[in-house]
Amino acid sequence: MSYRLITLLSGVPVGSDRGALGWCSVVLLEGRGHRILFDTGSYGDRAILIQRLGEQGLCLEDIDAVVISHFHFDHMVNIELLTEQELFLHSRELDYIKTRAFAETGDPFVPLTHAALYQDRLIPVEDDQILFPGLRIVHLPGHTPGTMGLYLEQEDILLTSDGVKNAADFLQKRPPPCFYSEAIALESYHRVCSLTNHILPGHDREFILNPDGQIEYLDQTRVNLDLQDKPRGSKRVIKLI
Ligand SMILES: [Zn+2]
Repeated sequence: MSYRLITLLSGVPVGSDRGALGWCSVVLLEGRGHRILFDTGSYGDRAILIQRLGEQGLCLEDIDAVVISHFHFDHMVNIELLTEQELFLHSRELDYIKTRAFAETGDPFVPLTHAALYQDRLIPVEDDQILFPGLRIVHLPGHTPGTMGLYLEQEDILLTSDGVKNAADFLQKRPPPCFYSEAIALESYHRVCSLTNHILPGHDREFILNPDGQIEYLDQTRVNLDLQDKPRGSKRVIKLI
């Protein structure tokens, strides 16, 4: 028996000179008697996250556990809504927020209040740990010390979060923005390649890296940016992906 993978929110490879938009991938895994959320998105994702769960006939209470890839706001803030679930975070990331090392490294994306409120509720996990049958933790440090992915063993797909933010960076061996180590982030790319060529990145759509080095996207989701700088009825919509 295997897991059904449902991309509730597609990651978007977009930045701006106004700051991070933070549209990450949010994935629901359903199978073997479990419903597991991999990342939760941020405040701006909240309504659509609940709507997408509803389209699956689910509500937040139906989720059993949450895997938090790392403690950046765009991936974890909606744990606020998940009051009863087990919350898993890599032990290195838990240290990162407990010791406030993130402040020393100038990492602005860790929400201070959440770091304080949740540090005792978060359950630390380790590299290679089998979290649920067929689901293996894969430590992918670099972006932060405890960034981690989740490998679906039977399905042979790796949810990388910001271990691989997007296909273009991965293809060009360009590390993600790093608050820990670019060199180690590149080692994490090698780890990813050693496991699989089927990747669901942190801020991009699911893809396969073909033997000829070409990216093949498997998710046809389109995301539109609605710039509301025109009178109503003539708004400008930009297709992002
Ligand atoms: Zn991040």
